[in-house]
Amino acid sequence: MTEAADLVLHTGRVRTLAGETAEAVAIRDGQIVRVGRTSEVDFVTDVETTEIDLEDRVVLPGFIDAHTHMDFLGKQQVEADLAAADSPSECLDELAARREESEGPILGYGYDESRWSGDYLTRDQLDEVSTDRPVVAYREDLHLASVNSVVLDRYVDDFPAEYVARDDGRPTGVLTEDALAVLGERIDPDPERFREYLLAAQEYAHRQGVTGVHDIIREPVVARLFHELDRDGDLSLRVRLNYTAEFLDAIDDLGLVTNHGTDHLRVGAVKAFADGSIGSRTARLSEPYSDGDGRGEWTIPPAELSELVDRIDDAGLQAMVHGIGDEALDALVDSYEGTSGERHRIEHAELLSEERLAAVGANDIVISAQPNFLKWAREGGLYDERLGEERRRRSNQFRLLLDAGIVLAFGSDCMPMDPLFGIEQAVTAPDDTQRIDTTEAVRAYTRGGAYAGFDENRLGTIKPGNCADLVVLDQSPWETDSIADLAVELTIVDGAVVFERGRSS
Ligand SMILES: [Zn+2]
Repeated sequence: MTEAADLVLHTGRVRTLAGETAEAVAIRDGQIVRVGRTSEVDFVTDVETTEIDLEDRVVLPGFIDAHTHMDFLGKQQVEADLAAADSPSECLDELAARREESEGPILGYGYDESRWSGDYLTRDQLDEVSTDRPVVAYREDLHLASVNSVVLDRYVDDFPAEYVARDDGRPTGVLTEDALAVLGERIDPDPERFREYLLAAQEYAHRQGVTGVHDIIREPVVARLFHELDRDGDLSLRVRLNYTAEFLDAIDDLGLVTNHGTDHLRVGAVKAFADGSIGSRTARLSEPYSDGDGRGEWTIPPAELSELVDRIDDAGLQAMVHGIGDEALDALVDSYEGTSGERHRIEHAELLSEERLAAVGANDIVISAQPNFLKWAREGGLYDERLGEERRRRSNQFRLLLDAGIVLAFGSDCMPMDPLFGIEQAVTAPDDTQRIDTTEAVRAYTRGGAYAGFDENRLGTIKPGNCADLVVLDQSPWETDSIADLAVELTIVDGAVVFERGRSS
């Protein structure tokens, strides 16, 4: 006789993404053991089995967010959250509220100046929050931060001068790129607080139906805390640790290898940057920005980038390189050509030129894209301003990528972390070359991420033998015009319910 299941979900609409649909899923020891009709899984239930009547709700594989910054997401939960602010004064209000309930630096995350005049927050504005404690407000893309006079008075000489914006010689309070690394070292909170951040981020992820993330590690403390959480049994999310290239020597020394780890925590790729972002006008373009003269910047110039990619590849590690502007992407694809490793990744790939599509496909390069960035590609949106009509319609051409046979892994970059919002953006994209259908978008947020993480034999589809990582939605994404408004009802990892709507943890 077959052993009984621990958990059975029945009388639902199960979209397996493995070819067929079903009504029920049976789970034992964290694994899917049967997928089929409700009557078929009845055979594997006994008195010990927990049964959930889905009442016709929809089950999908758990979402895999292929590009996250969990420390940032957690900070946004715990510190001032500026993502919803529609004006500088709303940002200042949020920061002032934070001032009252904390000591030390006053931190805020996620502001987006395209929600108001387009001007970054300034030191003079932030001085209204405090003139005796450091105040830092990070822009949504983390490539730019605004700081108050306290920060400048203390540290301005430590920041590389080219990344400190000035007006008539006086720093405006806006810092970019390399200055942010220094800033992070000077004002970062203590490790215990990071534990709080990561747990808050994990809970947030589960609320969004996310069961796995490919996270980017910029600070040793974050990697260490993930290991501690895993060791202590507190990690209910599958996390792939992708280390920024500053750690490459350490990775070499320690002998870390891609895909090694536990069921919940594995070594991923080495992450590097070819350029910056469109929002900060630092993405490297072949033609000038529409609202400025520059063509953006190289974070790592092409020759060095190519050397770095070779070094990562030679070490047998997966490479993961941020590239957004067309000129940066051309250089990046060129440097990936001729590598021997599998599934090297391009993060964002927003202005990937059509001429490079064939090379991307031929070299088994995964495109790790953010469908939520299409929110800026609408008429009158940020990309219209920065890039103009023609180039904004050429951004994020998911249709062309899939037609070229390229694997697309969706992630959010935590702007915001919300797979359903991202899926809606992809299926309602303004241009034919950008728009994909619901199945394709859901697949990119499940199987695509699994593939990018070498996990397609355990994650990303609902089939016997796979990990029981599932999400239950109140309605079908295939039967609505507003996918972003669907509710995540249940999130399940390893067969355990980690989020249930209406029940706070
Ligand atoms: Zn990122």
